[in-house]
Amino acid sequence: MKIALSDARPADVSADVLVVALAGAASADPAVLALDAALGGRLRAEIERRSFAAEPGGVLAFQTHDLVPAHTVILVGCGETPGLADWYSLADATARQAREFAAGRVAVLLGRHASPQTVAAVAQGVLLGRYSFDRFRSKPEAPRRLDLTIAVPAVDPGLRAAVARAEATAAGTCFARDLANTPAGVLTPKALGQEARRLARAGLQVRVFGRRAITGLGMGALLGVAQGSAQEPCFIELLYRPRARTRRRVALVGKGITFDSGGLSLKNADSMKAQKRDMAGSAVVLGVMHALPHLRPDVEVRGYVPAAENMPSGTAIRPGDVLRALNGKTIEVLNTDAEGRLVLADALSYAAGKHPDVILDFATLTAAVRSALGNRYAAIMGTDRALVAEVIDAGAAAGENLWELPLVAEYRRDLDSRVADLKNVGEGYAGTIIGGLFLREFVGDVPWAHIDFSSTVMSDGYACHPKGASGFGVRTVLEYLSRLSERRG
Ligand code: MN
Ligand code: MN
Repeated sequence: MKIALSDARPADVSADVLVVALAGAASADPAVLALDAALGGRLRAEIERRSFAAEPGGVLAFQTHDLVPAHTVILVGCGETPGLADWYSLADATARQAREFAAGRVAVLLGRHASPQTVAAVAQGVLLGRYSFDRFRSKPEAPRRLDLTIAVPAVDPGLRAAVARAEATAAGTCFARDLANTPAGVLTPKALGQEARRLARAGLQVRVFGRRAITGLGMGALLGVAQGSAQEPCFIELLYRPRARTRRRVALVGKGITFDSGGLSLKNADSMKAQKRDMAGSAVVLGVMHALPHLRPDVEVRGYVPAAENMPSGTAIRPGDVLRALNGKTIEVLNTDAEGRLVLADALSYAAGKHPDVILDFATLTAAVRSALGNRYAAIMGTDRALVAEVIDAGAAAGENLWELPLVAEYRRDLDSRVADLKNVGEGYAGTIIGGLFLREFVGDVPWAHIDFSSTVMSDGYACHPKGASGFGVRTVLEYLSRLSERRG
């Protein structure tokens, strides 16, 4: 998809479909008035005949019979004071109308609403909304090629940069979606390592540790999870270094269980159906890394992925087995289906050992988070109030919802083990918080926030999020990094 900015006046915009963003009354809108003049009063007459009030999400389509260079004008209501969600739903309507009218050239008239934020939201929304995963279809579902023009009063470098940012961010998100949509038989830990190596060609440093190197490092928890599978585990380390020197260093850690059968604590058939998505945390790390060489924030970012497959077999870990993590702590594994926290124990220990300023981890860690928050919110918890607040704010600005859960100190004793330093499951309550408390044991004193997003990694189909992997997290992290980058001193 090609995205261009244009400063053509409303009646001069050339397109198959021209979408006009309306905030407030339709017939008083300057863009509508300009189009109406060129259309000899027919547009306002139609608005009146249909009593079109431009309520949020309201749509009115009008055939111009080529009285202006746009064949079809579509008025879309965006609410009195449009916010990010409204611009996303405008983008969603744009993608939908393009499909409906089989349009190859679509323009969105932002008029007086044009700003770097709205231009970015529309560009990103259309790119995200048109995503489809066709790798395994003999006949692609992807809609036909689309050229998108965003019409604004004046094109300036700020708006151009906003489009470029939106493109890089959407590409990173769609890459994360691709990874999480790919079947586990194809996206093995080794394949994930290869994806990381491929990404690195754009100007990142990469190391992929195989079984022998992982053993040498002392990642006993990652090894334990992987030992039941025929697939070799790996540990991925990616490094993005900014051009300018920076003192800010962010570590990103993503759970990379490419398939989670539960191990010997086997899941039932229903719970196993969607388990190829259990590497969605790693997809956030790789999706962010995909975008960084384009966005070039002034922050050093290290991405870590412990990748393994969790399978039951004669070599699998047994409930009751004890594993030793990289930081020396021993873990009694009472449920082999609580494997995410095991591989993260090693990855977080490793990340903390490099002394970054902060650690963020993303993991499809618990099913409980869905019971707590439903499927439009992810849970966040951590050891640093400011960090948690900054990530929540970045998420809100990026269109991704995060809600903080408390790391309740009294619950920690749920993880006490009789034979090891801790056990990997609690007594069955507050599962998401218990997961966070477990991970906290491995971050040392580095400020850390943990995002448990089992709730949001798959979309059931909502604005700009077609059904399937959502790519949730990439935009939040990129927004967080860009804010860090702009903050000086
Ligand atoms: Mn599991
Ligand atoms: Mn899992």
